[in-house]
Amino acid sequence: MIQANDLSKSYDQHEVLKHISLTIPAHQVVAVIGPSGSGKSTFLRCLNGLETITGGSVSINNHLLKATDKKKTRLKTIHEIRQDTGMVFQQFNLYPHKTVIENVMEALIIVKKQSKSTAKTVAAQLLKRVGLQEKEDVYPSKLSGGQQQRVAIARALAMEPKIMLFDEPTSALDPELVGEVLKVMKELADEGMTMVIVTHEMRFAESAADRILFMADGQIVEDSEPKAFFAQPATERAQKFLAKVN
Ligand code: ATP
Ligand code: MG
Repeated sequence: MIQANDLSKSYDQHEVLKHISLTIPAHQVVAVIGPSGSGKSTFLRCLNGLETITGGSVSINNHLLKATDKKKTRLKTIHEIRQDTGMVFQQFNLYPHKTVIENVMEALIIVKKQSKSTAKTVAAQLLKRVGLQEKEDVYPSKLSGGQQQRVAIARALAMEPKIMLFDEPTSALDPELVGEVLKVMKELADEGMTMVIVTHEMRFAESAADRILFMADGQIVEDSEPKAFFAQPATERAQKFLAKVN
């Protein structure tokens, strides 16, 4: 479960997230949409401690992160949160000098302390899950963007996260490669993974998400059921946004 309570984030005087409160229960799939600069990435990054929050609190599976925490407490909580949370970014950030399977094995060996042979077996299963069993020994540069992003998803899944955060995972891809990544994400959603997905893929948001958060100016302006939101958003802000992206 994810909870934000009066969560705020400022850079100097600039308040980028403004008093956000919400609860995302386990197994829910949430799509976060909204205009550029509205705070979507910052919100996601605050959830797993990639950004330090400046007001309120965040709780991930009962690991509570407060803006008032001292540094030592904060680092300890962030460490705990990261054990439960996988993140996939627009840029795949694979290690270029490691093969596909080595990229997935890395966390298994270093963080999970698995033996090389166990890690290899687990990594192979994960690559199969994202449809890349044939690419195990290839270097990332030899893969398409869609394939690289699927490796990044497999790598995140290696930590057995209970929550997956995606920040525009298909935005850097050629249009014909978007579908294969969305398919893997849809499968994860169907398996019951708790997911928060920042996306510009409105059709995917409508079909795969249980809930839409529309952000503008650092606030959640609408929090709706997908069908209702896409049929008729409540606010003029969201109506204008949808008219532009569709
Ligand atoms: P996009 O759709 O373009 O990715 P976004 O909704 O993800 O936009 P954020 O990246 O969260 O928006 O940025 C929200 C606001 O915070 C923007 O005004 C941005 O300029 C500001 N911001 C983000 N990161 C920083 C930073 N490190 N320092 C200062 N300001 C920042
Ligand atoms: Mg962003």
